[in-house]
Amino acid sequence: MSARIAYSLPRAALLRNPGYLRRWPSTTSSAQLTRAFSTTLHRDATWGFVGLGQMGYNMAKNLRAKIPAADTLVIRDVNEEAAKRFVAEAQETAHSPNENRVEIAQNAREVAEKSTVMITSLPESQHVIDVFHSILKEGKLPVLEEERLFIDTSTIDPVTSKDIANAIHTTQAGRFVDAPVSGGVVGARAGTLSFMFGASSQSEEFLERIRGVLAHMGKKAWHLGEPGSGVSGKLANNYMLAINNIATAEAMNLGIRWGLDPKALADLINSSTGRCWPSEVNNPVPGVVETAPASRGYEGGFGVSLMNKDLRLALEAADQAGATLALGDEARNVYNAVEEAHRGKDFSVVYQWLQSKSE
Ligand code: NAD
Repeated sequence: MSARIAYSLPRAALLRNPGYLRRWPSTTSSAQLTRAFSTTLHRDATWGFVGLGQMGYNMAKNLRAKIPAADTLVIRDVNEEAAKRFVAEAQETAHSPNENRVEIAQNAREVAEKSTVMITSLPESQHVIDVFHSILKEGKLPVLEEERLFIDTSTIDPVTSKDIANAIHTTQAGRFVDAPVSGGVVGARAGTLSFMFGASSQSEEFLERIRGVLAHMGKKAWHLGEPGSGVSGKLANNYMLAINNIATAEAMNLGIRWGLDPKALADLINSSTGRCWPSEVNNPVPGVVETAPASRGYEGGFGVSLMNKDLRLALEAADQAGATLALGDEARNVYNAVEEAHRGKDFSVVYQWLQSKSE
């Protein structure tokens, strides 16, 4: 391991950033160390973050906490209050005015001009299009020492994502990576998100650069292939989640109506072939899993509107690919109705909706 580090760490990078080694915890594994060093290698002093919502705010906070204190983070959100709150919180943790610097940009173009790495976390495809259009329409970006890296962590449709990657690459504005996340707001806050990403280059050095950035906000990063493959992977996973959630709610409702004890039924399922994340971690029946949203009035967790949005994107992407989804339309009808009846609640509230429909 030490030989690999010695070869991959130019002296200049160490000199530029001597404090970094000291900040890495001593318990770090050798794999993590290699990743940390490659991050150091490619880092510039200015980072950008656009979209400080439920996910982005927490991700940007972790980013700010993990990059060197002397680096600058440039942020932008159309909600100016979110940006101001972020600056105030960053200042609270700084020991001097030169530490943990955060600048508020007036627009996304300003973020892109200043940052070597710019991360976006935006609600829907159209917001991502608007942001990248506003960046590219002003012409060439100033040249930086290192190639610009744009990482979009939003869940959007693969066609839009590929189009944006193409626009970034053909205008030579930098490299675009789609890296949607799994793990929700809890994972964003804890810095334990899983990323699945699509990137045009297979070069190990480039992939390590991406992984190094994502490691500031999460624990896992899967490279799935070319641009668009990150969002495709995310939508395939969330399609399955949408169906599993309905199936779990139906099976639990059925079993309880047959007179089975909910906990006993869940235990049986979780050690049998029906086992899945909704049955095991996010069980929709109140009281079965104490930490699940169902046990606290379906508050928090993964909102039913977000599930419905991801399902819509999966169905559209399936249609574009000519893939048959036998349960897709049925599931969509269910989530439309549940969203209408229980907007704002965790998506496991499907169980409550089913109960209200059952005689
Ligand atoms: P959100 O609506 O809370 O946040 C989005 C932020 O983007 C808002 O602060 C909004 O003001 C800002 N914004 C919108 N347009 C903008 C623009 N043009 N310029 C700058 N800022 C702009 O959404 P979220 O829950 O944080 O989700 C972000 C993305 O992550 C979505 O694509 C979502 O599907 C995905 N995601 C969310 C979760 C979750 O649990 N919330 C989980 C996994 C993935």
